[in-house]
Amino acid sequence: MSASPRSVARGANLLRAGKLVAFPTETVYGLGADATNDLAVAALFAAKGRPANNPLIVHLAHVADAKRLVRFDPLSQRAADTFWPGPLTLVLPLLADSGISRLVSPNRQTLAVRIPSHNLARELIETAGIPVAAPSANMSGRVSPTNADHVIADLNGRADAVIDAGACPCGLESTVFRSTGRGLELLRPGALSAEIIEERLGIKLVIDPSPTEVVSPGQMAVHYSPRSRVRMNAVSELDGEVLLGFGLHGPTGELNLSPKGDLNEAAARFYSLLRAADEFALRIGGATIAVSPIPESGLGKAINDRLRRASCQPLS
Ligand code: AMP
Ligand code: MG
Repeated sequence: MSASPRSVARGANLLRAGKLVAFPTETVYGLGADATNDLAVAALFAAKGRPANNPLIVHLAHVADAKRLVRFDPLSQRAADTFWPGPLTLVLPLLADSGISRLVSPNRQTLAVRIPSHNLARELIETAGIPVAAPSANMSGRVSPTNADHVIADLNGRADAVIDAGACPCGLESTVFRSTGRGLELLRPGALSAEIIEERLGIKLVIDPSPTEVVSPGQMAVHYSPRSRVRMNAVSELDGEVLLGFGLHGPTGELNLSPKGDLNEAAARFYSLLRAADEFALRIGGATIAVSPIPESGLGKAINDRLRRASCQPLS
């Protein structure tokens, strides 16, 4: 459905009826389900082929709605006040009477919550009047969708509706963190850079470089994978490689994340071009995607995080 008040109303009705609706957010397209409905949440895991132990982010329209589900400490409250609505997810203690399906955050006493800033997403959630669990609208482990065509390429026949409002402005998943005794711990770099969070809140984020326990399944090594092999920090392409460039030294033309070297532009184009490079690499007989060096600053950290996981081959 193209974005309109009618499609928002239809999408909201479908969500309330336990159906799966894909919709745009400022980060990537999400596949939404009623987070209070066990059957809807189970159908969501099944549609994506998502491992049942990978918890979902619950999307809300207002801070007051989040407060009915989780307990905020003062620092998380300040982060929410500063960055919501926006691409920031907070993992917080789940309240006993939240009404959220146990399947959303299995075997945990925490829940990940976020208020998206994308107008259509907020209108849809507000109209539905329910908390909406919404992981990225792709098959589990694959590249996240940043437009409705990407959603349909992955989930055709698996979602009940897709609302199309064009490309997602940020293009990377939300930044996830949890509150610990030591401060805010970064669980997944994302569309809101750690630098901006630290600067605006006047704090240092806690970053565990090699977590001994996987707190957040998004920290797993293999994730966000195209079908082709990926090689990072490629200064030039070797035989049998397709170059996905960045900056002046990358290829001119389509397969450059940002010819002018702008990391925000690169983030917005990243998944789309990764998909395009993947298609091209497969078409020419199984080439490797070589990616130009991306600076490890700002959104470059989140892009490199996804590339590291994409370049890590599954064992089987
Ligand atoms: P996505 O699958 O793109 O929606 O990403 C959701 C991310 O948030 C994944 O990395 C999840 O593992 C992480 N996450 C969600 N809920 C929790 C939670 N309660 N504790 C830790 N990580 C979580
Ligand atoms: Mg995802």
